Amino acid sequence: MVEITPEIQAQLDEQKKNCIFCKIISGEQEGKKVYEDEEIVALLDINPACKGHVLVLPKEHYPIMPYVPPQTFAHMFGLMPKLVKAVNKATITTGVNIVVANGGVAGQKAPHFLVHLLPRECGDGHDIYDYSGNSSHDEKTKQLMINNIPIMMQNHFSRTGVNYGVVQSSDAVYQDSIVTCKLAENPVVNGHMIIETDAFHELSEEQASHLFYVGSYCATAIFEGMGAHGSNIILQSGKSNDNDTGKTRIHVLPRFQDDGIEILGNPISDKSHIDEMHSMIKSETFILNPSPEREPLIINLDEMKKEDDEITKAINKIKYGNNI
Ligand SMILES: [Zn+2]
Repeated sequence: MVEITPEIQAQLDEQKKNCIFCKIISGEQEGKKVYEDEEIVALLDINPACKGHVLVLPKEHYPIMPYVPPQTFAHMFGLMPKLVKAVNKATITTGVNIVVANGGVAGQKAPHFLVHLLPRECGDGHDIYDYSGNSSHDEKTKQLMINNIPIMMQNHFSRTGVNYGVVQSSDAVYQDSIVTCKLAENPVVNGHMIIETDAFHELSEEQASHLFYVGSYCATAIFEGMGAHGSNIILQSGKSNDNDTGKTRIHVLPRFQDDGIEILGNPISDKSHIDEMHSMIKSETFILNPSPEREPLIINLDEMKKEDDEITKAINKIKYGNNI
């Protein structure tokens, strides 16, 4: 995680002034919000790459993933399986892509860190995540991953106090009881990592945030170790034409200028569904909202007695007519 020094904070405050998402979050500008709690907000992308394209973002302005503090990170990514379930239900779809772009070269368009959530199904025509290529990993990159990822995860466990039982594996860079992290067999680019796990819908909040932590460490390793210009973390889950097994896996891709990798595709031209999607998704995410704090119950005995008297009178009226 990047430490936010007073100098960095001053730069972020300057960025915030012109940030469209900060304006939507504060209510200064209109946005199609579908979920909101104390730390995060989800809204419809007004230039959707597919029907039901949702953006999930921290309310505080952070430029890229490594700036997001652990508590917000765990909450944001922990909630993803429930958000995905709600969006799948509302859009009547079966799969999902979750797309993170760190850096302009990686396809990041706004300086406010956000996550794209794309509902998917077979035949939806959005088949751009078939990331099997014919590149190869060079020896230096292989050693970088094999040496660094397990150390990063050990440090993570000692910082957070959680441990998912690290497994010694000869064909994985890193493995524990939740994830298996490998160098892609058919990489689209040198350093392309794949993280596999169980069905995304079934993951608990802790497991989902752990999965994305592993993704984030892989992205940091390729960014710093390979000198990449940016990185993508792209989750596939559920059946679609570019994920015929329906299994859950994350691609972590180092990004370089003009490398030709596509992460979102072109926006769809028909946007007439946006308002309908807005209300349908909201009606499913509604149940995810934390219950509002209740007013403390104050009992006024005198008032209760008065009410009791009124009720007794009313009952007697029914029983005995007005002759009391
Ligand atoms: Zn912002």
